[in-house]
Amino acid sequence: MGIEKPAIAVFDAKPYDRDYITRASGADKLDWRFQEFRLDAKTVLAADGAQAVCVFVNDILNREVLERLAGSGVRLVALRCAGFNNVDLEAAKKLSITITRVPSYSPHAVAEHAIALILALNRKIHRAYNRVREMNFSLSGLVGFDLFGKTAGVLGTGKIGRIVAEILRGFGMRVLAFDPFPNQEWAAQHGIEYVEARTLARESDLITLHTPLTPETDHMVNKDTLALTKPGLMLINVSRGRLIHTRALIEALKSGHIGGVALDVYEEEEGIFFQDLSGEVLRDDELARLLTFPNVLVTSHQAFLTHEALSEIARTTVENVLRFVGKQPLLEGTVL
Ligand code: NAD
Repeated sequence: MGIEKPAIAVFDAKPYDRDYITRASGADKLDWRFQEFRLDAKTVLAADGAQAVCVFVNDILNREVLERLAGSGVRLVALRCAGFNNVDLEAAKKLSITITRVPSYSPHAVAEHAIALILALNRKIHRAYNRVREMNFSLSGLVGFDLFGKTAGVLGTGKIGRIVAEILRGFGMRVLAFDPFPNQEWAAQHGIEYVEARTLARESDLITLHTPLTPETDHMVNKDTLALTKPGLMLINVSRGRLIHTRALIEALKSGHIGGVALDVYEEEEGIFFQDLSGEVLRDDELARLLTFPNVLVTSHQAFLTHEALSEIARTTVENVLRFVGKQPLLEGTVL
């Protein structure tokens, strides 16, 4: 007589999620029900019979979805990510649903992707790669600039922002930073200067965003803040799409004010990023416009995608679900 394993409904599950979760230690003690679609009010029925659900950045956990989850007996929502702007925490609390996240899986993965974007965008690697494959060995239009001696502005000096800032210092850049909770000791140690956000906007040749998405940071890059920036600015966003007002960004690109933009996240990425839409019509006009600029480089929310990060996400998630069903204290710092 086998004992029934607790069921976990995993939404937005890609092949790599399945691989890493099922290989994590202890995963065989649970019944993982992998769903490729995202969680929303229409798909929530797929969680019936599960004790917990496991979700990612673009799953929707608003009041309606949480109420239905609670009604079907779900007591735990385990996020496979750090950001939690997609969850109505207040509703979850009222419904006694525990929400966990993976606060730090590999800040290096995300920071290194930001650096990859900076180097590729500046040295036009995305264009050079395509040209050479077409046997076009011309260099016209591929002029970049030395990062050495230029000024970088890092908005948000949490786990990821600090690593990015340190790497940029390694290139010989002057690094400015802004954070409402500055870490002066770290800054002094690495020769990084904390300044006001407006000073950072005015003086930086390159600005990279590493803040969470909150009501304060929503559209922090907008028409007014872009107007403060240097002509030729390079802007990098690997954090959350809504930090940037896309319409204002497109205007600044069209006017030639901005020198280059690299995005791993996009305001309306839900339903687009992580999907293969190569055989379909792209209905998002703003994304379509962004993709026409030669000085815009977009990746599809892949900054986290390293072996180390996926292993850590799976380890933390499986461990927390096992502790939850075993009524053990959850991993420190993971409960929201
Ligand atoms: P963190 O919590 O360690 O750091 C965030 C920092 O932002 C904190 O120091 C905080 O004080 C600061 N901050 C808050 N409001 C600010 C503001 N208005 N201006 C400037 N700074 C502000 O978080 P982290 O681990 O460094 O992650 C940062 C963000 O990166 C996450 O919130 C998430 O949205 C994003 N992220 C993206 C990916 C990806 O794959 N693209 C992966 C992981 C995380």
